[in-house]
Amino acid sequence: MRAVTTRAAGDLRVEELPTPAPGHGQVAVRIAYGGICGSDLHYYHRGGVGDFLVREPLVLGHEVSGTVEALGDGVTAGVDAPAVGTAVTVHPATPCGQCRQCRAGRPNTCPRTRYLGSAAHLPHVQGGFTDVLVVPAEQVVGLPEQLSAGHGLQRAALAEPLAVALHALHRAGDLDGRRVLVTGAGPIGALVAAAARHAGAAEVVVSDLVDEALQVALAVGATRVERADALSASLTSDGPLDVDVAIEASGAPPALTTCVEHVVRGGVVVQLGLLPPGSVPFPGNLTVTHEVDVRGAFRFTTEIHDAVALLADGLPVDAVLTQTYPVADARAAFDLAGDRTRASKVLLDLTA
Ligand SMILES: [Zn+2]
Ligand SMILES: [Zn+2]
Repeated sequence: MRAVTTRAAGDLRVEELPTPAPGHGQVAVRIAYGGICGSDLHYYHRGGVGDFLVREPLVLGHEVSGTVEALGDGVTAGVDAPAVGTAVTVHPATPCGQCRQCRAGRPNTCPRTRYLGSAAHLPHVQGGFTDVLVVPAEQVVGLPEQLSAGHGLQRAALAEPLAVALHALHRAGDLDGRRVLVTGAGPIGALVAAAARHAGAAEVVVSDLVDEALQVALAVGATRVERADALSASLTSDGPLDVDVAIEASGAPPALTTCVEHVVRGGVVVQLGLLPPGSVPFPGNLTVTHEVDVRGAFRFTTEIHDAVALLADGLPVDAVLTQTYPVADARAAFDLAGDRTRASKVLLDLTA
């Protein structure tokens, strides 16, 4: 089978690997589409994400859709996993299930969790940009008919990043009637904006430095977009936006400051974007005097089911899906996905 692998910075290959068979409790999924994520791009460009360096060949990808190919021993169709032939997406996380975080119902913060296409552990967890992906049965999520074929199956590849966005909203609290700022208009920021509107936010302001990305945010539900640099300058002229909630989805350190500056006193800031390794500047005194709640949001737990339901119901996020490339052209797809003036979410097509 084909797989998209990296071994070091700048090294991206489409190579032949042995096709895996599902073992006990596992399911084999024939992958149809895979979305290229910022973390995949980091592995490709830098040979790692944060402190996780690629130390052996790593199959990338964790945002996938496909159909069930085979069930392993002990997996009963319709009970433990969808039947062979059913369209599915995959929850990428395998938490340990034992630790304090898992027992507290926060498996997304499990320190021993394994995540598809990740170099956090050795051996690495091989990812989903491959013809056949084998995962534990409980990570396979059946798709409703609207997402089962063609363009629906492409939309289903957004379930994972949309789940990330929904988790950030859960961390923020009730958004009904609220004013929300989202810093960063990449795929995640755009999906946060779409989900916030769906959750009843009265106003969703999205900021970014790239005009094309702001256009995507407008197309999926932002009520207003701002250049990130203009937002900083507006503090002195127009004063703060005084939004109820600010969600930082860019991972750019100055944007965290923007969020704290523009949230109302007593408001909530959710840091969703992964910041550069180490410490970043932080407006501590504003946080104190304005009693700002700063919260982290990392991956998700059960929100992938909500994401699938929203996508099936027609959440208008198609503007995020900017290009689809046959897997053989993975390198071109990765290069394009890194150009924010031309691309938002780029899909690899493994049916081609
Ligand atoms: Zn992702
Ligand atoms: Zn755990």
